[in-house]
Amino acid sequence: MKKRPLIWQLFPSYLLVVLVALSAATALGSVALRRFYLDRTAADLTARARLMGLRVAPHLAPMDPGAIDRLCKHAGRLAETRITVMDFHGKVLGDSIADPAQMGSHHDRPEFIAARQGAVGRAVRYSGTLHQRMMYVAVAPGDSDRPTAVIRCALPVSDLDTQLKTIYGRIAAGGLVIAMLAAGLSWWTVRRISRPIQAIEAGAKRFAGGDLAHRVPGFDTLELGSLAEAMNRMAVQLDERIRETDRQRMEAAAILSSMSEGVVALDAEERIIQANQAAVDIFGHALLQKMVGRPLTEAVRDSELQRLVDRAQQDDRPTEADLTVYRPEAKTIFVRCTPLRGQDGGRIGLLLVMSDVTPMRRLENMRRDFAANVSHEIKTPLTAIKGFVETLYHGNVDSPEEVHRFLGIIEKHVQRLGAIIDDLINLSRIERDAEAHEIALVEEDVGTVVQGAVGLCREAATARGIRIVQHGPAQPVTARISPPLLEQAIFNLIDNAVKYSPEGAEVRVDFEADDRCIRISVRDQGPGIARHHLPRIFERFYRADKARSRRMGGTGLGLAIVKHIVLAHGGEVSVDSTVGQGARFTIRLPRTV
Ligand code: ADP
Repeated sequence: MKKRPLIWQLFPSYLLVVLVALSAATALGSVALRRFYLDRTAADLTARARLMGLRVAPHLAPMDPGAIDRLCKHAGRLAETRITVMDFHGKVLGDSIADPAQMGSHHDRPEFIAARQGAVGRAVRYSGTLHQRMMYVAVAPGDSDRPTAVIRCALPVSDLDTQLKTIYGRIAAGGLVIAMLAAGLSWWTVRRISRPIQAIEAGAKRFAGGDLAHRVPGFDTLELGSLAEAMNRMAVQLDERIRETDRQRMEAAAILSSMSEGVVALDAEERIIQANQAAVDIFGHALLQKMVGRPLTEAVRDSELQRLVDRAQQDDRPTEADLTVYRPEAKTIFVRCTPLRGQDGGRIGLLLVMSDVTPMRRLENMRRDFAANVSHEIKTPLTAIKGFVETLYHGNVDSPEEVHRFLGIIEKHVQRLGAIIDDLINLSRIERDAEAHEIALVEEDVGTVVQGAVGLCREAATARGIRIVQHGPAQPVTARISPPLLEQAIFNLIDNAVKYSPEGAEVRVDFEADDRCIRISVRDQGPGIARHHLPRIFERFYRADKARSRRMGGTGLGLAIVKHIVLAHGGEVSVDSTVGQGARFTIRLPRTV
């Protein structure tokens, strides 16, 4: 529908009403005026006719048409009126203008018929004699039971029409002026109404456009004034609500984005409503947050996750599971799906809260493995001890040499048990102290410590014809260290090197320092370690070569102890080896400036 401004709707209606009213008043006035004039002319003509009746009466009995005609002509001239006298049959006896002998019978004229019946006959019509419109009024004077003649007076109505036309012209001119004034007035009134409405409309548009600081001006019209006030109040309230909603939204967004757990909210159709940064990090999907409104399956293509979501859809309680995601790297994600409920308590979607539990699960696995490993490590010597003790107890051994040999084996296993327990205690103490920051670090010469460790291994090395070659700076190099722990770590590395080297080989212990770091490396000419063992070699009880380790009386904890000691110093330990070409272990410690 075509829309027009209010002013163009109101103004023409106003104008129409004014014009119709004015025209109706003018028309009614004109009709009334015309009737008034005609009535007055008719009354006038009636009076003249009656007067004429009095003058004509003496000439009727006896009838003297000549005198009547002369009287008609004389009176007609004086009164400027056409006067006609007719007998009762309509024959013209006298006429002020025409010759009666030339005139036909008037018995059929309506005014004549009415007058003969005793009324005042009246008619307006065109006169063939005078060639103009005339008003005729006829009366029959004398006794009503003995009428003798009908007197008719007539005046041209064209004069009346001319006069009326002049009056109409004046009325029309006045009407036009009034109409123009009325149009101006209605234009002004309509503007007075439409202007505030336009201001309100402009205000509403600005509110709709978000400019809620705008205020609609006040108006002196009661209704429009209170409408403007109501709109301003509404804008203030809307502004407050929007601010409140914005604040709440920002708070919610801040909470969501600072959460370490990933959060993804889904609607009933499993489309993403919201996702936080942590969820993006977990799934490694940079577009996750931009995929609001898209199905979850489109954003994260993971069948495990989809199965979990499907299961959660069927369940009213929270559903949880560990998922493994492989992108960007393999991670274990704990996902908890909780139904999202609307205000009426109905389900409107799902809330997925997820956390990266990779380190936790790894730790749990390590703990489990560690407990199993410890039990296994302890069980082996215990079983051997038990077997030999039982054999001895039941006296199944013949010679004292055999008994001695058995006791020797038992002693070896007891020592092994003791070594495992010592190493375990050692390791747990280092771990505990390191966690509690209770390891006392002192500024000490590292060279002395290396020297000490080499000294401790010297005897075992010499026994196997192995040379320990040591290289290091001549001047003291100090660092913040725990001398006994560092000595133990270096000892463990040299001890391994000696243990795993063939007889007569060489073990190099290099010690060097620069401004930032101290490096102690132990290199041997042993069998080396296969590449795939290297990443796990520092784990507790991890052995690259199980048989050899056991044979050497190793506990499988030596390198784990090295790692924890070095970590407690803020350093790192690494291994570098090729099978058949020996191994090199390097400890790096940060240098105290
Ligand atoms: P172990 O008491 O068995 O020596 P470690 O923790 O000291 O335990 O060492 C773990 C494993 O690393 C050993 O079982 C061995 O297989 C391997 N290993 C350590 N040092 C060397 C080395 N210098 N040469 C070859 N293999 C080594």
